[in-house]
Amino acid sequence: MDLTDLTAEGIRQALVSRQSSAEEVCQAHLKRIEEKNGEIGAFLTVCTERALEQAQNVDRAIAEGRALPPLAGVPVAVKDVLVTRGVRTTCASRILENYVPPYHATAVERLEAAGAVVLGKTNCDEFAMGSSTENSAFLPTRNPIDAERVPGGSSGGSAAAVGAHLAPIALGSDTGGSIRQPAAFCGVVGMMGTYGRVSRYGLVAFASSLDHVGPFARSVTDAARVLKVIAGRDSADSTSADVPVPDYEALLAGEISGLKVGVPREYFEGLSAETGDNIERGIRMLGELGCRIESITLPHTAYSIACYYIIATAEASSNLARYDGVRYGFRASSYEGLRDMYKKTRDAGFGAEVKRRIMLGTYVLSSGYYDAYYRKAQQVRALIARDFLNAFEKVDVIVTPVSPMPAFKLGERLDDPLQMYLADIYTVNASLAGIPGVSVPCGRTRTAPHLPIGMQILAPHFGEVRMLQVARAFEKAGGFELAG
Ligand code: GLN
Repeated sequence: MDLTDLTAEGIRQALVSRQSSAEEVCQAHLKRIEEKNGEIGAFLTVCTERALEQAQNVDRAIAEGRALPPLAGVPVAVKDVLVTRGVRTTCASRILENYVPPYHATAVERLEAAGAVVLGKTNCDEFAMGSSTENSAFLPTRNPIDAERVPGGSSGGSAAAVGAHLAPIALGSDTGGSIRQPAAFCGVVGMMGTYGRVSRYGLVAFASSLDHVGPFARSVTDAARVLKVIAGRDSADSTSADVPVPDYEALLAGEISGLKVGVPREYFEGLSAETGDNIERGIRMLGELGCRIESITLPHTAYSIACYYIIATAEASSNLARYDGVRYGFRASSYEGLRDMYKKTRDAGFGAEVKRRIMLGTYVLSSGYYDAYYRKAQQVRALIARDFLNAFEKVDVIVTPVSPMPAFKLGERLDDPLQMYLADIYTVNASLAGIPGVSVPCGRTRTAPHLPIGMQILAPHFGEVRMLQVARAFEKAGGFELAG
């Protein structure tokens, strides 16, 4: 048995039956990281000793016959935008290159309380701004299926870690698609809950009204297990929802026959042919599972990219003002006076994409342009959200592609930021509306290297149970389960 092939439940069984120890499970993953990380670049930091200590604690609990929490001994990779007590947290930025936080993000705290073993911190686009993980200040991550290609982004390191079996579970953040799109590119499951379902405390802010924390896994069941652990009200995040957390995993087998599945017309323009074919086959499969497929319209979809990139950059320009060389991280070594210190610190500390977004965001918020851009975008956001509310009066879930095309080649889109932004067309809408979304594998391209294609399932606010039931039924019927 290769311990790096196991799901969270598989690990639990191996531990409970004493076939393996948590330390062995941890060692197996650390060894695989050692072998593969050089090529893939998924991890920026590996905390070997800390992880082994945590695993030994789990083994001690087993030896003492204590009840095991839900993720006992399960290794996890954490995107490097979630702060970790005593473990360097960089946001893949020079400006935080040596920053060691004094506290844990709530999602990390809850994972550890549930027995999970943090293996390390994963690479991403700088401050989660990007769709390919090429905006990392340190190195690009490569797609585990084809090293010439990107893993998607911004949570590319987390997706690649799970896809390459460096970890069975990872945490990512999703502001406009950063969990769902890399999950699709790497052939794994990735989801974000309703806005506020998971606490953002300790998630380094990019665009606060859009930011989510969520899991990557190799099965819907594992994703459901992790969601239950990390979801729920947190007094440290006033936007976290005070809504009871269902047992997502226990409810996964719920009947989906008879459900109405909406397919929005606007999401099938400009798709690569193979993506279109796979999604259509996926939709037919849902039909065979007894769902009623209905064509719907989300009429404001065409405005979503413009709307998202105004709101996200506006919020980013405000959130990133805190990196001034005074309070956190890097400070330029020579300067003349305070303003010059700010300027030189930010110039050397931030990469090109982050600077571009701070400038864009500052512009759309400036007096004279605020009404034309920012206020207008907020109005359009309300219309996009209303599109979904209207649609969910008629259908239970909505099914769409995740990305217009499978994983592209490294460097292919770097020179044209607009092309990179446009590829987010199917993911930013749900973020703007605050509804939950999951990406599940739904097939591969016909020719080698057989790139994975993801299908997106969207549900109404706090409709995660139904969304995951559909995802699980689909995964099972399609034989898309990746792990034993
Ligand atoms: N690709 C989108 C962007 O660059 C989404 C990023 C994210 O979800 N963090 O903003």
